[in-house]
Amino acid sequence: MTALEDRPVSTDSETQLVNDALDALLAEHDPRSMENEEFRGARFDAGLAWVHFAEGDGGLGVRPELNRLVDRRLREAGAQPTDPRTFFMALAGPTIATHGDAAVKERFLRPMFTGEEKWCQLFSEPGAGSDFAGLGCRAERDGDEWIVNGQKVWNTLAHLADFGMLVTRTDPDAPKHKGMTYFALDMRAEGVEVRPLRQITGEAEFNEVYMTDVRVPDAHRVGAVGEGWRASLTTLMNERNAIGGGGGGAPKRGGAANDAVEVWQAMDPSKQTAADKDTLMNWWVQAEVGRLTNMRAAQNAKAGNPGPEMSIAKLAYSELNKGLYEFCMNLMGADALIDYDYTFRRPEDLDVSGTAHGLRYAFLRVRANSIEGGTSEIMRNILGEQVLGLPGEPRVDKSVAWNEVPRN
Ligand SMILES: Cc1cc2nc3c(=O)[nH]c(=O)nc-3n(C[C@H](O)[C@H](O)[C@H](O)COP(=O)(O)OP(=O)(O)OC[C@H]3O[C@@H](n4cnc5c(N)ncnc54)[C@H](O)[C@@H]3O)c2cc1C
Repeated sequence: MTALEDRPVSTDSETQLVNDALDALLAEHDPRSMENEEFRGARFDAGLAWVHFAEGDGGLGVRPELNRLVDRRLREAGAQPTDPRTFFMALAGPTIATHGDAAVKERFLRPMFTGEEKWCQLFSEPGAGSDFAGLGCRAERDGDEWIVNGQKVWNTLAHLADFGMLVTRTDPDAPKHKGMTYFALDMRAEGVEVRPLRQITGEAEFNEVYMTDVRVPDAHRVGAVGEGWRASLTTLMNERNAIGGGGGGAPKRGGAANDAVEVWQAMDPSKQTAADKDTLMNWWVQAEVGRLTNMRAAQNAKAGNPGPEMSIAKLAYSELNKGLYEFCMNLMGADALIDYDYTFRRPEDLDVSGTAHGLRYAFLRVRANSIEGGTSEIMRNILGEQVLGLPGEPRVDKSVAWNEVPRN
């Protein structure tokens, strides 16, 4: 049986359009000899940044699966892999393309794609994580500007970011989902303070961000006033896709399942037990099932932004990664406890799957997979309600004004 990803792509008119654009781009630009930023600029201008975006916004208006064709052909032509520091482009890009007006798209999409401007996500607050719609960071209108006061937390790579996806409360009298507004925040603006938060890995990959009387131009608003929840959903769906869609523990794409096999193969054969071998095979099968399920979910997603079905990928990826690296540590025994440097450091890149920094790091880092981008409990709630059609959780504060909802 042919694997799903090995099936030939039918040469329809959209595929032809993308192939022609790629031929034209590569005829004029050699990614091996150009600066990466410059090549990515040419790629954006050719509509090959996000092919499903509209023409002029870095796309060609074709179906999103064709992004894979672009990635494959550019990889073969020697283009550099995506810089991990630009991870949030996968969230901010679709949000701006879907909800931003023409000026916002023109201002932000290209430099985001080239990597000239890096982004971070300013959603969570000390009192608003899973219940993100309860957030309290305040934005008040002042002529052509907004004045922002509040605190965000767990903001990955905010210390490297030029802009942040900021969601604020603009109407405290409206129910919580209705009084939110979304902005692009200049991280160097006066009144923005970024402080490190140290994680179990020793790194301070994430931060807390304080905003005191920060002035944000109305021209940097993403979507209509009061429509921040809708814009945020686009960010969150794309985040789940970005975290879970990479294949996670999937054997065919490397990652945790391959790492577990390598640990097994490096073991002294006299220490390999039949029970551990069974467990390894079990994980391998689960990883492969997860990989195929992710592919099916991605193919079922409607054109454009990913839907709630991407919570399947996020949930499966998180739980697999945690289980597989725990298994690796068990196989390694006492060796797992040594040779790890817990010194405080500020990372310059992002390694969500942990695979780039060794097994001990991976074991510690992937604990966060089932929290970041929405916890596994929340993914199960989304799948139950929005995919399986089960009854929803009781939501007593849904139609109550935000400022009348009790909070601690
Ligand atoms: C490594 C890492 C990076 C992150 N990066 C960012 C970032 O860049 N930007 C950003 O804005 N945020 C970021 N976050 C924050 C992340 O989105 C939140 O931690 C997450 O949404 C959970 O929110 P919380 O921590 O407030 O936990 P809470 O919402 O307080 O949840 C606590 C526990 O209660 C459970 N729970 C809560 N509500 C329910 C419910 N309705 N049903 C069942 N169980 C429930 C949760 O599953 C969890 O186990 C990051 C987090 C981590 C760990």
